[in-house]
Amino acid sequence: MGFVVVRGTGERIPVGKIIAAGQNYADHTKEMGAAPSKAPILFLKPATAIVHEGDPIVFPRAGDLLHHEVELGIVVSKNCKDVPAIEAADCMLGYVLALDLTLRDVQAAAKEKGHPWSVAKGFDCSCPISDVAPLGDPSALTDMEIGLSVDGETRQSGSTADMIWSPAELLSFASGIFTLERGDVVLTGTPAGVGPLERGSVVEAWLGSDLTLRFDVV
Ligand code: MG
Repeated sequence: MGFVVVRGTGERIPVGKIIAAGQNYADHTKEMGAAPSKAPILFLKPATAIVHEGDPIVFPRAGDLLHHEVELGIVVSKNCKDVPAIEAADCMLGYVLALDLTLRDVQAAAKEKGHPWSVAKGFDCSCPISDVAPLGDPSALTDMEIGLSVDGETRQSGSTADMIWSPAELLSFASGIFTLERGDVVLTGTPAGVGPLERGSVVEAWLGSDLTLRFDVV
């Protein structure tokens, strides 16, 4: 069972599902050659995709082109449905730094054929995740530096201020489709600069002033 750990208390919370938003930063939408969407694009990753720091990212067998996407994630605090965006902070336990690892070759083939993204996005180890930082001021979520390096070279560097839909808007939108449960994670999309990871890569990521991740790819 996938889980997240709350920083400070060490509480372990089971994760039921990971809801992820695609193309939520204009610069990443552009680099993917996609047209802006009129509504959030959502997909699911299974909770078994989670991997915690200390364990490696095992290169998946289902494809060859493994891309990094660094993302802010929101952890849901309580069961909820149809939450208005202005009340979304009441349903947030805290936030995480996560990677939405993607088999880009598999995704490109799926897009071409109109097939689902489950294999491209949901394989084991496709969601490396940090501990949960408790939510302080919710407005801080929309003004955080976020970035990622591979082997010490910065590949992604952005700000959560550049999201198209805010974390509150995404949680609200998602809650109109899926009942959200305590421990669910909502990933909020990635800024530009996505690129490949190889076996042997060291990937590091950062979010705001206090969350970091480091993983070896094996
Ligand atoms: Mg993503």
